[in-house]
Amino acid sequence: ASGEDSGSGGTLVMATNAEFPPYEYHEGDEIVGIDADIAAAIADELGMELKIEDMAFESIITAVSGGKADMGLAGMTVDPDRLKNVNFSDTYAEAAQMIIVKEGSDIAGVDDLTGKKIGVQLGTTGDIYAEDIEDAEVERYNKGMEAVQALQQDKIDAVVIDGEPAKVFAAENEGLKILDEPLTEEEYAIAIAKDNDELLEKVNTALANLKDSGKLDEIIGKYISA
Ligand code: GLN
Repeated sequence: ASGEDSGSGGTLVMATNAEFPPYEYHEGDEIVGIDADIAAAIADELGMELKIEDMAFESIITAVSGGKADMGLAGMTVDPDRLKNVNFSDTYAEAAQMIIVKEGSDIAGVDDLTGKKIGVQLGTTGDIYAEDIEDAEVERYNKGMEAVQALQQDKIDAVVIDGEPAKVFAAENEGLKILDEPLTEEEYAIAIAKDNDELLEKVNTALANLKDSGKLDEIIGKYISA
């Protein structure tokens, strides 16, 4: 998709799923968040114009590998299965799958998830890892927020989701808590088509510049208080 626009450097198309605060979410008509700001800063470095395409999380890899989008930024975890279909840039954030339960729940840690009803967002690493929990029944939702609402309504026993959105969703829904023990530790990176090494190199250089200049920390600090 790059190079089609009238702008001198062309358009850089980012695929995302804007249901994942503080990385990407809707604010009025706009899509904002850490990933949106990182993508804008990369586009800036490349002299290109950023365009954000909002889609189901599940569709992002296909959009990138099929050339509908130039890059996928969606709090996306580097994962061996995904690496079969796309390349990943250098990583730009550390993350973890965390467990949200209701206050007073008998689930106190990872081991207590055995045999429970666990809500996840479809196609995420939370989905993949919940699937491995013994005798667990995995309920898949299109949005993480929907899983958290199902938990609040006692339809499920726990939600497995990335730590930062977990904090946002738990704060927006009363009577929930996030357990201290993470289920997994992960790293976020930018997905790029396998045949687009040129863009991969450019994105890695831009990311390195953003890290060195302190701009990356500045973006993260705007959305996450330390
Ligand atoms: N980090 C998780 C994954 O890559 C969740 C990402 C998301 O829901 N946007 O699967």
